[in-house]
Order: sequence, then structure tokens, then C-alpha cells
Amino acid sequence: MKMNAKFIKERKANLEVRREELKKELDSSTDQVAENDYDAKFIDLGDKEDENAAEVAMFEKNLSMEKTLEISLFNVNKALKKIDEGNYGICEKCERPINPERLNAFPSATACMKCKEKSL
Ligand SMILES: [Zn+2]
Repeated sequence: MKMNAKFIKERKANLEVRREELKKELDSSTDQVAENDYDAKFIDLGDKEDENAAEVAMFEKNLSMEKTLEISLFNVNKALKKIDEGNYGICEKCERPINPERLNAFPSATACMKCKEKSL
């Protein structure tokens, strides 16, 4: 697999689809409070004890979803920005090209495998 214009175009299409999916998921579990900031939705079910318990459980689920989705969306946007700037596929840490196989599997990857392993 080679990094060329076609490869980047495909990754871009891929990232744009992913961005729409993430936005939809965020829409259903959060309220957007700013450009790139979302708050987990708190759904008011009622004042009974079991209703309160269900509210908290749902909120906690939305909260963990929110964090995951927000980070994913942030990375997708970052990758799309890199494509526009022409430095897509370059590791942010060591500035070497990221393996295209890795970009194929994770189009929003911003670091190469080596650097990723080091940061874990
Ligand atoms: Zn690297």
C-alpha cells in the first residue's frame, strides 16, 4: 500500500463519513455547548427513587460516551485538517511517515506505531 493522492483521497472520504457518524452519536447522547465541546445529556425521568437511579445510570453512560466520542471527533477533525494542509500521514512526534497500513486501519492516527507504543 502506497501513500499517494488516491490513498489520501480515500482516507479523506473515510474520515468525513466517520465525522458524520460521530456527530450523530454525539447528538443523541449529548448537548453541544460550543464548537468542539459537548456535554452529556441529563434526561429527567421523574422524582421517584428508581427513576433517579435510572437517570444517573443513563447520565454516566452518556458521560463516558461523550468523552470517547469527543476525542474521536477531535482526532478525525485533526486528520482532516492535516489533509488540507498537506502533512497528513506524518507522525506528530518523530515526523516520519506513518505506515500506510496503519492509516488504512486508523485514518485518524497522528503518530506512528513506534511513538504510539512509547507513549503507552
Ligand atoms: Zn513517530
